[in-house]
Amino acid sequence: MATTPSPSEDATRDAVRSWLDEHWDEDCPLIEWREMLADSGWGCPTWPEQWFGKGLSPALGAVVHAEFERIGAVGVASGAAMSLAAPTILEHGSDDVKSRLLRPALTGQHRWCQLFSEPGNGSDLAGLTTRAELDGDEWVITGQKLWNTGAQKADWGILVARTNFDVPKHKGITYFVIDMHQPGVEVRPLMQMNRYASFNEVFLTEARVPVSDVIGSVGEGWRVALATLAHERSLPSVRAFQAGTNRTGRCRAEAVDEQTDYFKTYVWYPQRAGRADLVIPRAKQTGRWADPVVRDAAMRLYCLDQAARWTAQRAQASRLAGRPPGPEGSIGKLVGSNIARMAARVHAQISGAHALLSADDPSTTDPSTTDPSVALIHEILVSVPGQSIAGGTDEIQRNILGERSLGLPKEPSLDVDIPFRDVRTNPDRRS
Ligand SMILES: Cc1cc2nc3c(=O)[nH]c(=O)nc-3n(C[C@H](O)[C@H](O)[C@H](O)COP(=O)(O)OP(=O)(O)OC[C@H]3O[C@@H](n4cnc5c(N)ncnc54)[C@H](O)[C@@H]3O)c2cc1C
Repeated sequence: MATTPSPSEDATRDAVRSWLDEHWDEDCPLIEWREMLADSGWGCPTWPEQWFGKGLSPALGAVVHAEFERIGAVGVASGAAMSLAAPTILEHGSDDVKSRLLRPALTGQHRWCQLFSEPGNGSDLAGLTTRAELDGDEWVITGQKLWNTGAQKADWGILVARTNFDVPKHKGITYFVIDMHQPGVEVRPLMQMNRYASFNEVFLTEARVPVSDVIGSVGEGWRVALATLAHERSLPSVRAFQAGTNRTGRCRAEAVDEQTDYFKTYVWYPQRAGRADLVIPRAKQTGRWADPVVRDAAMRLYCLDQAARWTAQRAQASRLAGRPPGPEGSIGKLVGSNIARMAARVHAQISGAHALLSADDPSTTDPSTTDPSVALIHEILVSVPGQSIAGGTDEIQRNILGERSLGLPKEPSLDVDIPFRDVRTNPDRRS
């Protein structure tokens, strides 16, 4: 079969430049601009031409993105919609779902959340017990999801639920997209120990999903969920516009407002990663740099952080060259946890007891502690534990590396070959 040759880097650059010259208008309303991106394919250049893209390779997609960045043109929306839902729908969704849901994801009209984890099933996601029962041309969903980031603002959710309890646990799962604005969906934000409430518990009580909104086939949901999890660990196929603070023109101003609102949920994520960038400046600012023990710890952290950046760059280069994802995703995640923990320890060494003071602690009225970065250190200490849990815990990453990269024997398991109904567990999980 004849294949269409890929355009060259220069040809791609010329094509996107001339399209931007003709169409980019910083005073265009955001939604109208994003509709143009969808129609032209330039917003998601690595997506297929049939589905709002240009069918370009990741490397050529990066060329397109660089041209948008060069002139500060606004790109497609960001968030779970584009990093998790859209790539999964592109790979496994029906044409009907693609035609209804991809466009509003990229224009930013729909926000999405991930409804995977449950009170008893995070690492053991395949043990989930939220059930889906067929009623005519609708699935009726009942169960509880947990730790669902951004669900309080989401219009749609990607959901896994059990449609068959009589087959082994990985075989009875189906993947759905669910409209969050319906009576059977109740979202309750959870207060975290860092005082933010970015994730939620979601109660599904006879919520309804039309049969057309199954992604993949009934009973094949585990395979589809693995695709979503792979996207969670890998580079996005579409690089979202980084609004920054440039508000020139209506289009950019509306994009900045959109991102500011969206990222309210994630304001503590840099602190969750440990803020290694603040360690040396704070050590110098507080005079603790003179202490050789602090200097030694700070430099160990600096080296680990640099090495992790280079590993991430290597992984990025490999993906751009079109190679399949390697173990770098799990390695990067594990190293990220180590950096976060190490950074929290060094911050505590530098700040001493002041690290215990939060922004609203009355003690921060003491002139010796009113430095706003002291409160930030407190936020780092209570946010860092989330780093090694979100997106799969450290232990699970080690299992993945051991089994898939090093070829070690699989973890012994008593529950993968028997009907899920017979798995020995709390009685209410089986029926
Ligand atoms: C900031 C944040 C955001 C999140 N956002 C979302 C979201 O949007 N949507 C969503 O669905 N979920 C979300 N989660 C949930 C996350 O995916 C789960 O918390 C995670 O998978 C761990 O599951 P768990 O909390 O049930 O812990 P458990 O699975 O109960 O684990 C408890 C402990 O046991 C260990 N353990 C478990 N199994 C094994 C094993 N086989 N071998 C060795 N050790 C093991 C774990 O490593 C951990 O230390 C989020 C979590 C965080 C912290």
